[in-house]
Amino acid sequence: MYDFLVELISTLFKHGLSLSSAGAIVFLLLKQRKLKKRMKRYFPWMFEDDHEMKAYAGNQLIIMENQNRIMQKLGVECANGSMTKSSNQDQKNLNIFARLSRAVTVQVSQLRRKQMKKIIVIDAGHGDKDPGAIGVTGKKEKDFNLTMALKVERLLQNHPSITVLLTRRTDVFLELKERSDFANKANADAFISIHANSFEPTSAGTETHYTSNDSKPLATMLQRYSLLSTGLKDRGVKKGSLYVTKNTKMPSCLLEPAFLSNSAEELLLYNTNFQDTFSLNISKAICEFFGVAYEIEPTPAPQPIPDKSSPYPIMEVTVNTAEPKTFVGYSIKGSTWIPSRPVCDILGAIVDYNKGIVSVNGTKLETQLVNGVGYVKSRDLEIQTGARVFWDKSNPKRVEIYPKLGA
Ligand SMILES: [Zn+2]
Repeated sequence: MYDFLVELISTLFKHGLSLSSAGAIVFLLLKQRKLKKRMKRYFPWMFEDDHEMKAYAGNQLIIMENQNRIMQKLGVECANGSMTKSSNQDQKNLNIFARLSRAVTVQVSQLRRKQMKKIIVIDAGHGDKDPGAIGVTGKKEKDFNLTMALKVERLLQNHPSITVLLTRRTDVFLELKERSDFANKANADAFISIHANSFEPTSAGTETHYTSNDSKPLATMLQRYSLLSTGLKDRGVKKGSLYVTKNTKMPSCLLEPAFLSNSAEELLLYNTNFQDTFSLNISKAICEFFGVAYEIEPTPAPQPIPDKSSPYPIMEVTVNTAEPKTFVGYSIKGSTWIPSRPVCDILGAIVDYNKGIVSVNGTKLETQLVNGVGYVKSRDLEIQTGARVFWDKSNPKRVEIYPKLGA
């Protein structure tokens, strides 16, 4: 056991973990029942029910929770739904850290409960040796699930009334029992397991599963918000006895937003804009379920492109929403060209970029690249998004965009 500790500590430092996180992990390990007796003899101060010590450990855990990106420090990155991992040793380390992290997270939940925070457990389905469903082009369900869990966590991480706990935050395997046990131990207020569906190439649509009648309101709410993001066929909420929804003691549901066996839906699931909208809607559903407001982090204003690098006359493009935002557009050959990504993000349109061509809501548009940014014609943008574009009569260099009515 001593060897294990030494190995653990050295691994921690090798990967650049801070002293405090390492301290918190070691402290928790020492408090494990098996070790407790022996350690008590040598380090009695550690086991005294001393307030100061408890506060210290509590603080360490909060620090750790904030730094809880420990997994990412192991060289594992999650980008656009695909995971990269460097070696078997990394996978071993990941498994060790994931276990420790879950133990720490359960402790964190106790602190959060004292602060009267609602606790939501997000469970990214499958992991590591269990890829889940495989999409038409070979994409793995486990990666989509994890990407979504991490995005929801990011959106809600500073929420004053909600604490998000993840069953896994990297590509590790967990038994179903470990997932439900985690939520039960954390005494969570709700549990959401994220998956993607798979059946036949023609199978299509969005569905949400639940088990107990207590969970139906949560499932219904999540289904409504999921549909808002996918815009797919409504397959409804389905009562059944899936392991994780059956064995969690709090309202729980399992999301199946779309089918990986359907090529159009697979494309949607791995589209970054869809993922952003979907995670946002899951976050809003969680807030509505807990009866608290969704608080939006202010997004930094986009940096205008400097005038000198501009090869075309500049247009001032203002998108008029509750908080109007202005971007740099261009006047090229008598047309107004709009920066596709930031404007489409505001308009809620799905924008994609492939081999120099921008597509908006799935339609490829004539694209003008300026300093690596994809611009599309205002007219095309109107057609694809239903937005309305007006030119300022008093200033021909100004253009105003209004989102689609009722959007
Ligand atoms: Zn699944």
